[in-house]
Amino acid sequence: MAASHSRPSTNKVPASRLAARGKGLAPKCRLVVVKAASRCNLNCSYCYVYNLGDTSYLAQPAIMTRPTIDALVMRVAEHCARHRLAEFAFAFHGGEPLLARSSYFRYFVNRVAETVPAQTSIAYFMQTNGVLLNAEWCSLLRELNIKVGISLDGPKEVNDRVRIDHSARGSYNRIRRGWDLAASTGLEPGLLTVIDVSASPRDVFDHLNELRPRMVDFLFPDATHDRPPLQYSSDEAATPYADWLLEIFHVWIADERASFRIRLFERIINGILGIEGKLDALGPGKNEVLVVESDGGIEPVDVLKVCGDGMTSTPYNVHRDSLDDALEHPMVQLYYHSNDRLCDTCRQCRIRQVCAGGYLPHRYRAKDGFDNPSVYCRDLMRLITGIQNWLHASMPDDVVAQLGFMPLSYAEARAAIASAPAPAHSKAGGRRAGNAEAGSQLPISTMARQESGPGSKVRSCE
Ligand code: SF4
Ligand code: SF4
Repeated sequence: MAASHSRPSTNKVPASRLAARGKGLAPKCRLVVVKAASRCNLNCSYCYVYNLGDTSYLAQPAIMTRPTIDALVMRVAEHCARHRLAEFAFAFHGGEPLLARSSYFRYFVNRVAETVPAQTSIAYFMQTNGVLLNAEWCSLLRELNIKVGISLDGPKEVNDRVRIDHSARGSYNRIRRGWDLAASTGLEPGLLTVIDVSASPRDVFDHLNELRPRMVDFLFPDATHDRPPLQYSSDEAATPYADWLLEIFHVWIADERASFRIRLFERIINGILGIEGKLDALGPGKNEVLVVESDGGIEPVDVLKVCGDGMTSTPYNVHRDSLDDALEHPMVQLYYHSNDRLCDTCRQCRIRQVCAGGYLPHRYRAKDGFDNPSVYCRDLMRLITGIQNWLHASMPDDVVAQLGFMPLSYAEARAAIASAPAPAHSKAGGRRAGNAEAGSQLPISTMARQESGPGSKVRSCE
């Protein structure tokens, strides 16, 4: 939730600089992911920053410097002012953001308070692996009103298969210490959990339930068509991720002690009911998000690194360029509009309003860019139809009739896309990536790169 700040009246962006470009339907950024640190004290095997082929972190400063913080905050202030944004959010990320010192965060929040227009309410988030959390950090994060998410993949034996350090030691005990401290000092952390379908969903659910998180985010392991998920099968009926998630869904619904929210399920339910919401990995809406690297580089969502080395690079930097400038970059535009620029198959899909093609990085294939359904298409379809059918069966008839949604079997949903025309790139050359709707001018040469790195272990970064 957005938190207001009391700000001194000095050093603010003057109103006269504000309105020049802030009109109409110009793309906006409402959240900047701040790469406070570009290094990490862990070395998770599925990490898209370090272990899936992208090497751009090697050229980044380990910690974002104060001049870069100043430039970033000034760019955000300009942007909020130009677009008259009532709310803006910063998400501290990494690498591991706690590798930056506490003075980094104090300085950052003070600069925002001094610089961003007072009419913009600011919210702060942090995604951390939790290993470095101690009483001082917890106190500071509370003081600065930074909401915290901690990455943990389930019980020790599940987490420690992949969330390991640079000596290949499991991280569970250290993360758990950080979690317990954060929870006991009132930080109310959320949990981010990458799905491991080889683990028992019931065991994972029970473990997360014990921790009493405020919110759980389940992530599909990051994958592309060239680098499919570990449990990928060409069998049309195989939907291991959906099966795993649906088991969690039904336990979550039935368990009255489960007080935590699960963002993925909430988004799907809201999508089915026609309630607007935002999740860049699922459903409609613009992705009004930019990433600022530790050198000040302005980039689209960093998970695109899983698509190839340098995939997220742009020429834009907060030291020279505005956020509006960066929003015009083709890859940034593709991510911004990715939920309404769908391939022909997705456009024929009966659940496209809920799914919207899934997460952009998961659509990628080197030979045809992003003009594909998600590599998780079958799982998304099974999951969404499963929840839709449960909702339909659970709601009173008159409410269902009013809402106008019908049961839909997985087989019916698959049949609807079976008649989709073959991708144009297979009929003729020169297909443009992500261009299923008018207006995209994204040449495949920009969007399709050679796959890099080893092609099996694929998981998401926190
Ligand atoms: S379920 Fe598959 S075809 Fe339907 S919108 Fe999602 S990715 Fe596209
Ligand atoms: S997944 Fe997160 S905690 Fe693990 S190595 Fe990557 S940045 Fe670090």
